[in-house]
Formats: sequence, C-alpha cells, structure tokens
Amino acid sequence: MAAVCGRALLAPLGGRLRACPRVPIRPLTSAAPLYDVVVSGGGMVGSAMAAALGHDIHFHDKKIALLEAGPRKEYCLPESYSNRVSSISPGSATLLSSFGAWDHVCSLRCKPFRRMQVWDACSEAIITFEKDDLDDMGYIVENDVIMSALTKQLDAVADRVEVFYGSRAVGYTWPLPSHSSDTSPWVQIELADGRRLQTKLLIGADGHNSVVRKEAEIQNIEHQYDQSAVVATLHLSEATDNNVAWQRFLPTGPIALLPLSDTTSSLVWSTSHEHASKLLTMDKESFVDSINSAFWSNVNHSDFIDAAGAMFRSALSLLKPSGTAVRQLPPSVAEVDPESRAVFPLGMGHAAQYVRHRVALIGDAAHRVHPLAGQGVNLGFGDIACLAHHLSAAAFNGQDLGSLKHLLRFETERQRHNVSLIAAIDLLKRLYSTSLSPLVLLRTWGLQATNALPPIKEQIMAFASK
Ligand SMILES: Cc1cc2nc3c(=O)[nH]c(=O)nc-3n(C[C@H](O)[C@H](O)[C@H](O)COP(=O)(O)OP(=O)(O)OC[C@H]3O[C@@H](n4cnc5c(N)ncnc54)[C@H](O)[C@@H]3O)c2cc1C
Repeated sequence: MAAVCGRALLAPLGGRLRACPRVPIRPLTSAAPLYDVVVSGGGMVGSAMAAALGHDIHFHDKKIALLEAGPRKEYCLPESYSNRVSSISPGSATLLSSFGAWDHVCSLRCKPFRRMQVWDACSEAIITFEKDDLDDMGYIVENDVIMSALTKQLDAVADRVEVFYGSRAVGYTWPLPSHSSDTSPWVQIELADGRRLQTKLLIGADGHNSVVRKEAEIQNIEHQYDQSAVVATLHLSEATDNNVAWQRFLPTGPIALLPLSDTTSSLVWSTSHEHASKLLTMDKESFVDSINSAFWSNVNHSDFIDAAGAMFRSALSLLKPSGTAVRQLPPSVAEVDPESRAVFPLGMGHAAQYVRHRVALIGDAAHRVHPLAGQGVNLGFGDIACLAHHLSAAAFNGQDLGSLKHLLRFETERQRHNVSLIAAIDLLKRLYSTSLSPLVLLRTWGLQATNALPPIKEQIMAFASK
C-alpha cells in the first residue's frame, strides 16, 4: 500500500448517492419482522451500540435487534486474568457510564493508570504522560469484563433490544433511495439458518472483515502489517503500585506492559511474524527472559545517537528546564501465566465511507489500527457516542433513522477525528520500525522536543483520552 496519508484514507464522495450496489430486488417478505435498527456484530462495539440505543429515552418505542454469530457467554469472574485486555480512555468510560455499563466494569475489575512512559530502544529518547491532578489517564480492562457489563445492560432493556446469538448474517438486500411500490423500502437481512429480518437502519459492527462493508461495496483501504502481537498475562517480581503503562519501541516493534493489579500485568508485544511464533513456543523461562531483556537491554544503542541525543536534551533543558521527564524503570517480570500466550496478526484498514442510505459502519468494520496506541476499541466507542447522539436527535424529531441526512453528519464528525489518528498511528509504526541512524536521530529529537513541550503533550493526551 502506498504511504498512508489523511487524503488517501478518504475516498471521493462521488457515487454515494447512487443506490447501494448489488440490488437484487426481491419481493418484500411479509413474514420478515421489521426493526427500526439492526446492529450486525455483537463484539464490544456492536453490543455497546445496541445497549446505548436501548437505554436512550428517545428510543423507548423503537425495536432494535443485535445479531451475533457467536454464542452467548455467561461470565463468572475467574481468579486469573484474561490475556485479552484493552486500554480504555476516560472518554470511553464516560460512554459506558451513560448507559450504566461502567459501574458493572468497576464492580468486576479494572486497573486505572496514572502515568504512561514510552521510550526508544535505539536511543535515550523518552516521553512521559501524566495527569497533574488525581485523575486517571485510562483504565486497563479485560475484554471479557467489558462484554459481561454490556450483556448485563442489554438484558436490562430486553423488551427493546432483541439479541440473536448464534446468528450469522450472510446476505443483505439494499433498498433504492426512492423505492417503487413493488420493492422493499428497508434493508433485508438473511441469516445463515434461513431466517430473514428487515430494518430501517443497518449498523455494521461486524469487525475488520465486515460482511456489511463488503456487501455494500464500500471501498476499504487496508494493509497487513509485517508484525503480529503476542499477548500474555505476566506476574511481576515484586508488588508495586503498578499504575504506569509502559511501552518501549524496539526496531522489530513495540512492547507494552499494561497494569492489571499490584503484581500482575498484561503483555502486548508486536514483533515480526517469525519472532512471534518463536515467543509463542519457547519455554516459560526463556519467554520471561526475552521480555525483561526487551525492556532493559541497550543492545540497539549507538554512541553517535546517544551523543547527539544528549546534546539536544541539554539544549532543550537550557531553554525549558522544567520540561524534561523523570525516567522510571519498568518492573521486572518473574513469570508468565500458563496457557496465556496467544498471537494476533496485525493490520490497518479504513473504510472510504462510513455510511450509505440506511447503512452505517462503526468500530473495526470502519477502521482497524495497530495496537501501539491502544486506540482500536476507543475509536469504536467514539463512533457510538457520535452515532447515538445523531440517531437520538432524529428519533426525537420523528425523522427517518436511515436517512443519509444525519448519517452524513456522523460520518463527517468521525472521519475528522479518526483519519488523523489512524494516519498518525500508521506513521509511528513505520517511523519506529527501523534502526537506520538518520531516522533514529530524527525521531529521537522529535520525541525529546515533544516531551519538553507540555502544551503539545496536553493536546496529545486530550486527543487520546476522547
Ligand atoms: C493484541 C491487541 C491489543 C489491543 N489492544 C487494544 C487496546 O488496548 N485498546 C483499544 O482501544 N483497542 C485495542 N485493540 C483493538 C480492539 O481489540 C478492537 O478495536 C476491538 O475489539 C474491535 O471491536 P469490534 O466490536 O468493532 O469488532 P470485533 O471485536 O471483531 O467484533 C465483531 C463481532 O461481530 C461478529 N460477527 C462478525 N461477522 C458477523 C456476521 N456476519 N453476523 C453476525 N455477527 C458477526 C463476531 O462474532 C464478533 O463478535 C487491540 C487489538 C489487538 C489485536
């Protein structure tokens, strides 16, 4: 894929107002139940979308369906931590609070963090983020805990939101914007078991391989990274406050240690596919040694970069003595939870359009990012806050929920936010995937300068906490 820039992530809007493609016009099946909104995909984003609408006062007379290919999972908090966790921003916590899910998350378990330290393995460059006040920077939460909280809040509005588990959507029939009397004005949905549904608005939350996006023939700019992420649950050598999220950029990819409790942290290590396979199969002791060495070793340093970095740092401290950060040492890892190691291939993707007549895409169906910034599901929760706001207003005003008028407002607002973040994450991934001296020097100075400028750091924090 060509280098990703904001413009490349957006496609021309031409063609949007043509009818959604692939319109095999079938007669309206009178037996197919009609829903105001159908959300296809009940992962973290789709479930939160359905719960947000179900709890919205202006949706009290609306019928919503949530389709999930997988089974319903009953959750009982296990003693050991799951290896799938997410860094949740304060903005996402606010969204989950708005319909009561965050209280459930807090009553199960989540770990707030107050500081973030990011540093380069090829130089002394470091950037730290922390809150001056006692506010949390974010929360590390197991994905299962989030799903359990969402399921509880979906159960609470079961009269409004019907959840179809084990129900894979396999085909969609799109309406024409101006339909004739012998065609259906609604989106028709076919499930794998032959059942059919109809809806005034289909929300595609079916992940990065979205069937909704493909069937609507929405162009997706996508790229598989040369990296996979190894995740695991780790036990620390000694108990600490453990309220710092650590990330070190190695030439092979970033390694992150995210706090779960005083003695436990979660690993997300993005590295080459070959190295990821080795990490998955090596014995436990070698795995732990590899993690400690990835955080502590200076094998990638060079005298030239260290000297140039030190000169730049002293120049900065003359200009702005208060701007330099105190480097802290990450905790050392003692053990890995048995069976907790797993690997995920990484990629980026961005849908050229998020909406069509009676269709909207949210979450990974609309955008997929590298986990280095911990933003994937947060972007999805941001989509929900925005789309739910516009749909609530449309419902209050008695407007057609599937109309492009308010769907386009959602698309504009979200693309304005998402495109710059996705492009920045992709750029960071590329900039840090090299140990070429000129680029290392460039990023070292860039990181040192950013770290010395509190207003810029505050802006980055404000943007990432949405
Ligand atoms: C290693 C790793 C670490 C990450 N860490 C973070 C982090 O710290 N912070 C963060 O914000 N993000 C993080 N992410 C990203 C985050 O996990 C994703 O952005 C998020 O899970 C996407 O949620 P989703 O609901 O949009 O999609 P998915 O989780 O893919 O859910 C899609 C759902 O749709 C269902 N489905 C699919 N097709 C159909 C169909 N045809 N019919 C019915 N149902 C269907 C699937 O069964 C699934 O349940 C990380 C990702 C990885 C890989």
